[in-house]
Amino acid sequence: MAAQPRNLATVRAAPRFDGIEISLIRQINALATSESINLGIGEPNIEPDETLRQLAVRAASTGSWHYSANAGALSLRKKIGERFNRDPKTEICITAGTQEALYAIFQAYVGDGDEVLVPNPGFVSYPTLAKLAGGFPILYNIEPPDWKLDAKSVLSKITRRTKLIVINSPSNPLGAVIDRETLQAIANAGPLVVSDEIYREIWYESPPPSILEMSKNVIVVDGMSKSHSMTGLRLGWIIASEEVMKPVITAHQYIATCASVFSQQLTELIFDAREWNASWLERVRAQFRAQREAALYSIGHELGAKPPPPAAAFYAFAPVPTCDTLYFAKTLATDAGVLVIPGVAFGSCGEGFVRISFGSPVETIGVGIERMGRWLRAMGR
Ligand code: PMP
Repeated sequence: MAAQPRNLATVRAAPRFDGIEISLIRQINALATSESINLGIGEPNIEPDETLRQLAVRAASTGSWHYSANAGALSLRKKIGERFNRDPKTEICITAGTQEALYAIFQAYVGDGDEVLVPNPGFVSYPTLAKLAGGFPILYNIEPPDWKLDAKSVLSKITRRTKLIVINSPSNPLGAVIDRETLQAIANAGPLVVSDEIYREIWYESPPPSILEMSKNVIVVDGMSKSHSMTGLRLGWIIASEEVMKPVITAHQYIATCASVFSQQLTELIFDAREWNASWLERVRAQFRAQREAALYSIGHELGAKPPPPAAAFYAFAPVPTCDTLYFAKTLATDAGVLVIPGVAFGSCGEGFVRISFGSPVETIGVGIERMGRWLRAMGR
């Protein structure tokens, strides 16, 4: 008798997906309508200028369409190696965005029962990546009102089972930067440290310090998504010492083979256009500086709150007068048409706060926060 196709309702996802759902961020964004003001988005409101578009045309018309080496085209790795003083042959791997970089690192290092220290509040992917790799996320707290990471909060969580410590500076959702001494204390702690530096170029007063040179056991991930508003082109990279990098490149090979060669070629052209690139980054920072001022002004004026000005990235983490921020954000989205991300989406320490993204034009930020204030006042808050 011919085999019957299975009833799909009985086909279960692998148990490693038990309890893993789409993030609260996506749940909030799903409530958006054409009328909504979206202060929930995690990407820059910046479009490519004429030069960047020309570089993309050149990358597409003259570049290769074939696989590159798994770790990425050596010519691009050389450019990144030069910037960070690393060996392009062994210490750099180009990935399909920073997200894939993180996935490859977790797959390479986290095994059954391993513990991964992750920030609370922190970027939503870290705990999920730990679980998908068979490990346990162990949260270390970052505390209001200044959200300054205390090295003790991390070091006190280290056990024999700690495989990775994940840090994120500048932080999503806090916009906070970890200072040099704290980075050094974490680099010296012993376990491998994964440092997510994807917001490194978007700073306001001074460039954030990097953990890269502080120890042989750090793995830095970064990419073009935020600095060049290239979120859809999926271009990231990993920098680590040769011994640490080896299994990561193997994992990356089985996930992505190689990053898009178009995006690699474009990134190379961007790095070659040094003067244009420096002025692009200045313009990006200037635009976000203006949007940050607008957000902080409206948060003070409309919400009566004074969160610490974010030192980098494009998020303000603002207190709200409610103890259930998920309900708050959902109701705000449906009743007032304003999308913000509930702080609890980033961990229990985020409860009582919302992440307001200022990756939007100044007027949109003003109108959105004004609507939020009006809605809160109508609720008697
Ligand atoms: N890390 C952090 C902290 C992020 O906020 C994001 C994107 N929101 C990523 C990594 C993933 O970035 P990419 O687009 O390079 O995959």
